[in-house]
Amino acid sequence: MKLEEKTIDYKKVLTTIYHNVVSEENKGAIATYIPELAKVDADNFGVCLLTMNNEQFGVGNWQTKFSIQSISKVLSLSLAYQIFGDEIWKRVDVEPSGTPFNSLVQLESDFGIPRNPFMNSGAMVICDMLVSHYENPKEDFLAAVRELCKSSDISYSEAVAKSEASVGYRNKALCNFIKSFGNIKNEPEEVLGFYFHMCSIEMSCQELSQVFMYLANPNFTTSTGDNVLNLSKTKRINAIMQTCGFYDESGEFSFRVGLPGKSGVGGGIVAVYPGKYCIAAWSPKLNEKGNSYRGMKFLEAFTTETEESIF
Ligand code: GLN
Repeated sequence: MKLEEKTIDYKKVLTTIYHNVVSEENKGAIATYIPELAKVDADNFGVCLLTMNNEQFGVGNWQTKFSIQSISKVLSLSLAYQIFGDEIWKRVDVEPSGTPFNSLVQLESDFGIPRNPFMNSGAMVICDMLVSHYENPKEDFLAAVRELCKSSDISYSEAVAKSEASVGYRNKALCNFIKSFGNIKNEPEEVLGFYFHMCSIEMSCQELSQVFMYLANPNFTTSTGDNVLNLSKTKRINAIMQTCGFYDESGEFSFRVGLPGKSGVGGGIVAVYPGKYCIAAWSPKLNEKGNSYRGMKFLEAFTTETEESIF
């Protein structure tokens, strides 16, 4: 069914929903398993919408930087896809796992092939590919992300990376386990060092919505005039975000919000409406599945109110 195009007053919609969500209880809990993340003020809440016409609307703490954590896995996947093409699918699958992001259980029966690139296991295999490819993985990856954002003001948080490394027993187990199947080529220590840094990247909602425009805008080009991914590859990344972006809550996010998206335990969520806009939300308190409580609530109200969803 083709609905009539209508003009939406995005500023008004964003402001109204923002105030509604803020007036309700802020449920959930901050991720404390990474000690450094526990220091963040739980009441932070920001949203930024960036449209195809380059109109930008922000509310709340939309310009405050936070730890993007697993949202970075979309960026590493996109770069690996750009570099290696379809070869990457030999080492990581594209199936929803139905398990938490840090699960080990399916790896044994799947012979070290992670179910998808957004679980920690899959992201580590992607990191391993980038470690093999780049001369200086940390520097080169950051340069690529800055290029996407068209800003040099994007950095790792050494404090967060160090904090996660100091308690990352499960991630170390995951990486070593995959290595035992031969699906990690480099030394686990090096891959994990890169992985922890990648997850520690800090961005604001404003920057996130800018960075992820390459998945929303088919005409997006970098400063050198190149596409990041062609349309077919863009479709595939969006499809994996749709089916796997929220771990064992991916179905729920699709059901409630109806957009491809990705969350991180820092409380960030980015979602794209291909051909229309990119939206980023941040609120640090997470639900039991590790996804931002207020972020999900906001996005559900946003797509419902605007009647803009890919479904
Ligand atoms: N760095 C985090 C971890 O490995 C990323 C998890 C997430 O954001 N879901 O546990």
